[in-house]
Amino acid sequence: MTIKIGIPRALWFYDYFPLWKTFYEELGAEVIISEPTNKQILDYGVKNTVDEACLPVKIFHGHVLSLKDKVDYIFVPKMMSVYEKEYICPKFCGLPEMVDNSIPNLPPLIDIEINFNRSRKSLRKTIYKFGSYVTKNPIKIFKAYDKALAVYEDYRENVKLGCLPLDGQVESNEIVKQKRVRMPGAMKIAVLGHSYNVFDNYASMNLINKLKENKIDVVVPEMLDMEAINCCTDLLPKKMFWSFGRKILGSAMHLADKKDVDGIIFLSSFGCGIDSIIEDLSERKARRGAEIPYLLITVDEHTGEAGVNTRLEAFLDMIEWRKRNESDLSAHG
Ligand code: SF4
Repeated sequence: MTIKIGIPRALWFYDYFPLWKTFYEELGAEVIISEPTNKQILDYGVKNTVDEACLPVKIFHGHVLSLKDKVDYIFVPKMMSVYEKEYICPKFCGLPEMVDNSIPNLPPLIDIEINFNRSRKSLRKTIYKFGSYVTKNPIKIFKAYDKALAVYEDYRENVKLGCLPLDGQVESNEIVKQKRVRMPGAMKIAVLGHSYNVFDNYASMNLINKLKENKIDVVVPEMLDMEAINCCTDLLPKKMFWSFGRKILGSAMHLADKKDVDGIIFLSSFGCGIDSIIEDLSERKARRGAEIPYLLITVDEHTGEAGVNTRLEAFLDMIEWRKRNESDLSAHG
C-alpha cells in the first residue's frame, strides 16, 4: 500500500517544498499538500494554537488539521538551523511539540531535526531518517535526495528570475505566466517579509497580485543576489544570527544602497519578535538612509483587507506623485 505523506502549505513550505515533495515521491510515497490557506484553515489554526503565537504559526496549525484524516504521516520537521552558526526562529524549533500538544489524535509526525550546525556526517544520517519512513534502503534514499536537490536548485533559480510561488502554485503552467515582465518606466516595488507571508495570498491579502494588477515590477528577497545580501549584513555591528531575519534585513540594506526601487513594502506578522527588530532597522536603512518610500503592513487574523487596500493605494499614489513632481528631490528638502 502506498504511504501517504501530508505536507502543510505553510511556514518553510514556500522555501523548501519542491525538495521534500520530490524526495518522497521518488521514494514511492504519495505526497498530499494541504490546500492554499483559506478562512476555514485560518479558523482551525486560531482555535487550535496558543493565543500568543504569530499568524504564520496559527496558519500552520490550520494546515496540519486539514490534513489530519487524509494521510499516514504529517511532515513537521524540527528546523533548528539551515546555515552554519545561524538559527531559524524559536517557533520553528519547537513546531513539532507545539503541533503535537495542540491538536489531538494526529497521525504520526515526521519530526526529524534539521540542524546545519552539526557535521556533514550528521546531515547524511538526517536524510536517512527522513527517508526511512518510506524505505530502509539507503541507496534509494540518497538517490532520491540527489534528485530532490536538483529540483530544488532549479526551483530557486526560477524564483530568482521572478517566477513567484504564490500559494505554492509552481507545478502548473502558472509559472510561465508569472515570469517577471519589466515594462519600461514601470514602478518597481520591493516586498520584504517572510516567504510564508509574502507568497501566501490569503495571509498577504493578495498583496503581490494587487501590485501586479497595477503593472508594478515586484522584487522580493528571493530574487536578489545572496552574496550581495550577505555583504550588507556583514557590515552590521553584530551578527544577525536569525537566517530569515538576515535575508530580509540584508535585502533592505542592499536595496537602500542601490536605490533602484521606487518603494519598499515590509509585510510583517503581528507577534513576530524577529520582525519587530528588522522592520525598524529596515525602515531606518530605506527611508531615513536612502529616502526610499516605505510602507509597513502588519497582519494578524483580525486585519481587514479594506484598510490594507486604502494604505496601499495611498502609498502607490504618493510614489507616483513623487516620480512626476519631484524628480529625485525629497519634499522634505
Ligand atoms: S519568524 Fe516570526 S513570523 Fe516566523 S514563525 Fe517566527 S515568530 Fe512567527
